[in-house]
Amino acid sequence: MVSRVIPVDPFDLVIFGGTGDLARRKILPALFRRFRDGQMPEDARIIGAARKDQDADAYRQSVREAFAEFLRPSEQGDPAMEAFLDHLDYLPIDAMGDGGWSELKGKMRDDVPQAFYFSVAPSLFGALAERLHTHGIAREDARIVVEKPFGRDLGSAQALNATLAAHFDETQIYRIDHYLGKETVQNLMAVRFGNVLFEPLWNAQYVDHVQITVAEEVGVGGRGAYYDKSGAMRDMVQNHLMQLLCLTAMEPPNRFEPDAVRDEKLKVIRALDPVAPADIVRGQYNGAKGASYLEDAEASDSRTESYIAIKLHIANWRWHGTPFYLRTGKRLKARASEIVVHFKETPHSIFDEDAGRRANVLSIRLQPDEGIDLRVTIKEPGPGGMRLVDVPLDMTFAEALGPDAENVPDAYERLIMDVIRGNQTLFMRGDEVEAAWAWTDPIIAGWRDRNDKPVTYEAGSSGPEEALMLMHRDGRRWREIA
Ligand code: NAP
Repeated sequence: MVSRVIPVDPFDLVIFGGTGDLARRKILPALFRRFRDGQMPEDARIIGAARKDQDADAYRQSVREAFAEFLRPSEQGDPAMEAFLDHLDYLPIDAMGDGGWSELKGKMRDDVPQAFYFSVAPSLFGALAERLHTHGIAREDARIVVEKPFGRDLGSAQALNATLAAHFDETQIYRIDHYLGKETVQNLMAVRFGNVLFEPLWNAQYVDHVQITVAEEVGVGGRGAYYDKSGAMRDMVQNHLMQLLCLTAMEPPNRFEPDAVRDEKLKVIRALDPVAPADIVRGQYNGAKGASYLEDAEASDSRTESYIAIKLHIANWRWHGTPFYLRTGKRLKARASEIVVHFKETPHSIFDEDAGRRANVLSIRLQPDEGIDLRVTIKEPGPGGMRLVDVPLDMTFAEALGPDAENVPDAYERLIMDVIRGNQTLFMRGDEVEAAWAWTDPIIAGWRDRNDKPVTYEAGSSGPEEALMLMHRDGRRWREIA
């Protein structure tokens, strides 16, 4: 099956922070792939901007070097690379200064969509937004793209939203959560709302519980001091896990349109019950392989969590009594992200006790190999009595899409093209971000007030024992991280 590529309109995209890590590792490779696959039109223009004083040729050379480092081996030497680099331009601009803006204005066209990617520290968002206006560069239909962290609590998120709102309408602001750009996350919506099979069962009557896991193998080494100021709750739960929870739990939107989808997600966050301390496990990795969070964080008395597991309830009719278990952590046994919906057992078994009981499980894997897997119960093949086993109905993209699967677009590829198309469906709205902080803040404040100390867990393990107990006490088990 060969996927269809629909070219976007010509555009002007300015990447502030065009020399930074995110631009080199994610944004520019994503744009290159869209160009290579014919989605970026010939007269699209990308202008990198940062303080570094260099000309466009030097910038193109630095991007060439970034590609040598960050493109896949199979993409190296692609003849499309030089043609792509011809689309790049560069301007030295200090977000806090007044130089370079009139040159930027001179380069922007009036008749194509314009987008400004703020790939810089959030403290510069205000200065950029203001200057784009005072220098008469941003049109009324301009789009700006901003990255996480979107605040570190409700107050700072509100301040950041207000800074942007002073110059841009909400319809112009694209807050990236790259998890939403993943093919499987969108497939979760396709599975739920494009089939008649699942939605009637998608509720507390049939769903026993849901597990959402984002496990990382790497530790915080290298950026430990920075990470120590946030921790897993701020870094992962408030944004990525919350977004996955929303898409899993939300009501069907009336249409697959930005505000219809985001209204439903917001209702989920607002319906979250407060979480009791006993329903949260915080951990720090330690132990084997010389790994220690405290050493990586360079803070021997740190109480920041590198792991968190939370049991939560959504207070509405659909989910009353069905817990959602969220967990995320660094230095776990494997890198694996998935949403797993555990359905209830059949209400009554017609088979002998020897046959066993099985329940259906639907898992949506985000990484490493994206795909959806539904386990259904069948009879164990062969003679003899009736024994039940579960087998996968597997929708792994690699099998379903054949050789094209390797080219499942990276999340950034889809999201940047959505910015150009002006489609905000997969971007977080300001009120969603604020509602997530409003839920997160009291939990973090509780830890601070109680001087809560994370438990330790073995680096390379599945997480703390206490997190296993969180499930065991409910008669459930985490799915193996693999
Ligand atoms: P970075 O590597 O430190 O790059 C920062 C960029 O901003 C550089 O191009 C820098 O170039 C430019 N810059 C700094 N001060 C400036 C100023 N006053 N005016 C204009 N440009 C300025 O940071 P990054 O990792 O790319 O991250 C960029 C943003 O994305 C941050 O908000 C970060 O939190 C977020 N983010 C990054 C990642 C990631 O994987 N890297 C992931 C998620 C979110 P000059 O020094 O030459 O000006």
